[in-house]
Amino acid sequence: MSVIGIDFGNEGCLVAAARSGGIETLANDYSLRATPSCVAFDGKKRIIGVAAKNQQVTNMKNTVGGFKRLLGRKFNDPHVQHELKSIPARVESRPDGNIGIKVNYLGEDQHFSPEQLTAMLFTKLKETSSAAMQTQVNDCVIACPVFFTNAERRALLDAAQIAGLNVLRLMNETTATALAYGFYKNDLFEDKPRNVILVDFGHSALQVSACSFTKGKLKMLASSWDQIGGRDIDMALADFFAKEFLERYKINAKTNARAHMRLLTEIEKLKKQMSANSTKLPLNIECFLEDVDVSSSMQRSQMEELCAPVLERVEQTFKKLLVECKLSLDEIHSVEIVGGSSRIPAIKQLIEQVFNKPASTTLNQDEAVSRGAALQCAIMSPAVRVREFGVTDIQNYAVKVLWDGDGSATWNGEIEIFPQFHPSPFSRLVTITRKGPFNASIVYGQQVPYPDQVIGIWKIKDVKPTERGESQEVKLKVRINQNGIVLISSATLVDRKEMEEAAAAEAAASEEKAAASGEQANNAGEATEGQQEAYCENEETATTPGGQGWASRVKGWFGSGSEKTKKKSSKAIELTMDVLTHGFNPTDMGNYTQQETKMIANDQKETERIDAKNGLEEFVYDMRNKLSGGPLERYIVESERENIVKQLNELENWLYEEGEDCERDTYVSRLRALQQQCDPIRQRAFDYEQCPSAFDELKHSINNARHA
Ligand code: ATP
Ligand code: MG
Repeated sequence: MSVIGIDFGNEGCLVAAARSGGIETLANDYSLRATPSCVAFDGKKRIIGVAAKNQQVTNMKNTVGGFKRLLGRKFNDPHVQHELKSIPARVESRPDGNIGIKVNYLGEDQHFSPEQLTAMLFTKLKETSSAAMQTQVNDCVIACPVFFTNAERRALLDAAQIAGLNVLRLMNETTATALAYGFYKNDLFEDKPRNVILVDFGHSALQVSACSFTKGKLKMLASSWDQIGGRDIDMALADFFAKEFLERYKINAKTNARAHMRLLTEIEKLKKQMSANSTKLPLNIECFLEDVDVSSSMQRSQMEELCAPVLERVEQTFKKLLVECKLSLDEIHSVEIVGGSSRIPAIKQLIEQVFNKPASTTLNQDEAVSRGAALQCAIMSPAVRVREFGVTDIQNYAVKVLWDGDGSATWNGEIEIFPQFHPSPFSRLVTITRKGPFNASIVYGQQVPYPDQVIGIWKIKDVKPTERGESQEVKLKVRINQNGIVLISSATLVDRKEMEEAAAAEAAASEEKAAASGEQANNAGEATEGQQEAYCENEETATTPGGQGWASRVKGWFGSGSEKTKKKSSKAIELTMDVLTHGFNPTDMGNYTQQETKMIANDQKETERIDAKNGLEEFVYDMRNKLSGGPLERYIVESERENIVKQLNELENWLYEEGEDCERDTYVSRLRALQQQCDPIRQRAFDYEQCPSAFDELKHSINNARHA
């Protein structure tokens, strides 16, 4: 069993694995480390990764990329509408408002969701990693953008599950980068934190985080981000060149999707060259549109002018982080850059300008995220032995809990349970006194890049008044889990009777009297009908091993209760909850998983069919060469040789005509028939090579017999 880390990028994915004491980035079926986040379809199969990207220009409608940012969203989401501008595939709204990407697959139009496409990509990554590792791969850590909300995180987990991956953790991308940085540093100290800024400028997003490293531990401090990346630069340049071509050649690249795609491909190449070269560089595309060859040029300074709005946003994002991490410039040790677009010189200049430090490239800019994720997976998995390194991540948005009075979902009480940048994972208890069932909702406490602020609604059932008709205490455990998902993980009813008895007994003798009386003060008003009461407290600190716990007890509305006293003396009854949150329901999950399994089987069948066809074709060429002037010619009489070569020629023609598209078995049986004919010839050659002298003797004696 091996463990992997996946960097699922908008443009490309990287997979790293923990192997023989080290982390290794794995190569795919094309011996490349980056697998394009691209899935294509044809009449027979799915085409995923490098092969999909390679055929995109000739199969535009059935090739889909850029679906990472569609995860967990509805079609009419303005964000989706914005994304669709850079997705040439056919994307439609399904009857339930979900996104359906329409492709022609197996000869018919079919719709797939962004989650299904992501699952297909994960299937491919799983297969190529299994092939590279020569073992089955299931456990993984997947990196996701720091700004991903609940809906997007759950969608990503659903996609991984559809692909049969066991996700040990969804890890924020910059946190993965931080781990890749800190894990190998042996000059970190316990008492002297090293603050490092991590900048990831990719294809569709900019993420910047501040992290504090001490010996064996890292603690994320704050993050800022913007949804801009290399593709916005490509678009700005494409607009410029399209305008120029319209003026000079009277052709409009924007009206032709294929031409636009070719233009973007050439621009990306030009952009990369400009990162290394400040002189004027050419852009030439032959037969671009209406058979016109186009040519132009650009130099770095011109690109920077065209991209000024993007660069301005980059600068703002850097500055925002600097404010939010509350570090002075002197307290920042270094600024590490990763992500393809961080190679742009103007970005490095902005880093220097804002942070007063040159950008540092300690890490592999393309592989750091996947390597960090693989390290985290190795730390968490029992399958691999690795040194511990504590990771304390953060919840990037403030989170509130709301509750209603009577189950009507009209919110009449709320509390900010986790402020922005609160450490994670973490659990906190909210205590609410109630006489009957009620609803609690978790919502984001600030603007998020998602149309809906609601994370979920939990219906807390089975709450009843006490025998004396009084309210009961219900403890909701609100948790940020290791995936950055916030949820109510449990609701328990505290048996008041027992608790009061115990508290009274303790109040008489115990030194915890102060805490107990504080508890009573908390509960003082609760007998009043309809009055809302709640307080919150830390229940546990659950950072990964070695992580620094956030130990302070947090005072909620009515001060903190003494959890220790209550836990010992009260009886907790687990309450059932109905949950309404994002993500597929079990029925949909079952269907999608089944569909994926079927598609995998179909792809497998198609691969076997193509392999059988290739095997037959190869045999035909090989045998014909060997029999026509090749090493086998001398082992067969001429008439038989002519007959076999004739059959081979006929078979070659058949393969290009009616035999072009047959079932696997047809190719296999044809190959077998041919092999049967050719095997005796090969056997003769083999026998001769084993013992040529015996043949010579035999030949000699035959000749002698003829002469006699
Ligand atoms: P995201 O993180 O936004 O989901 P991603 O992880 O797929 O996307 P990366 O692989 O980090 O993105 O970066 C890809 C981007 O980097 C592309 O826009 C690419 O053109 C750009 N890029 C790569 N190399 C260079 C270079 N030398 N100069 C400028 N840009 C580059
Ligand atoms: Mg990335």
